[in-house]
Amino acid sequence: SLQYPEWIWHNGRIKPWAEATTHVMSHALHYGSSVFEGIRCYQTANGPAIFRLTDHNKRLFASAKIYDMPMPYSLEQINQACREVIVANGNATDYLRPVAYRGLGGFGLAADTPTEVAVATWRMGQYLGASVVESGIDACVSSWQRFAPNTIPAGAKAGGNYLSGQLVAREARRLGFGEGIALAATGLLSEGAGENLFLVFDGVLHTTPVSAALLNGITRNSIITLARDAGIAVVERDLPREYLYLCDELFMCGTAAEITPIRSVDGRQVGEGRPGPVTRRIQELFFGLFDGRTPDRYGWLEPL
Ligand code: PMP
Repeated sequence: SLQYPEWIWHNGRIKPWAEATTHVMSHALHYGSSVFEGIRCYQTANGPAIFRLTDHNKRLFASAKIYDMPMPYSLEQINQACREVIVANGNATDYLRPVAYRGLGGFGLAADTPTEVAVATWRMGQYLGASVVESGIDACVSSWQRFAPNTIPAGAKAGGNYLSGQLVAREARRLGFGEGIALAATGLLSEGAGENLFLVFDGVLHTTPVSAALLNGITRNSIITLARDAGIAVVERDLPREYLYLCDELFMCGTAAEITPIRSVDGRQVGEGRPGPVTRRIQELFFGLFDGRTPDRYGWLEPL
């Protein structure tokens, strides 16, 4: 059974987990009107640090802006709430979940309900299961497509988007796969249920473009930056499904998934069926940020 942390930040203050309640008639529960973030806290060589805290919370505000959801706190207040809730729970957690949602105050779709905000933290560990960061997962292409760009904006990290993610992830698990990959409405590759994709061809990283109905991931952006700094070429491009089978290496990335190699797709072995040299190099560069092997050139490690 789940062990919940003791404290949570809700509507301006730290309170006991059990007291962070909201009304069942809150707008978000009925209509998906919430925006959120997922952020990791790492124990680094220089103490605890939240990875790209400000960039994540800027994306939270961007998501709220897309949905015209007023934010009752400043960016700095949300950053501070993130720090506070980790400290309150004894710095024993590794994942942060800020969420802003339309609360109680009207039942119509366009109702101007008050925005409520919470920041939770918990211990996540490896999202896709123990040791997959070393061994890789078996993935499948989902029978569910991503929403088209003129239906729901993929650039907002909104609660309602994750109906799509749940269909993709639950189908994959039901069929015995570690994760599902969705195609965009164009038929071209989009992303995983909660992860962006990188394919390797001849030592070059290829990642799908934001026009393919995907979330502009902060891990994806970090990998592009780290790779280019290390002299590894990166291209953002449209990719057809079969390239998943033909690439030399393939991995997923995201705050939760970190850098998870994919060893097969739809039963076809990818490359050698184990994490390849470029994937390993990217893992080294990324995880190196936290043990000090990779210099933090961009101030991504924000101290607690
Ligand atoms: N795509 C989706 C649909 C996601 O939910 C996530 C996780 N936030 C990502 C990609 C990866 O984004 P990030 O690296 O910012 O966590």
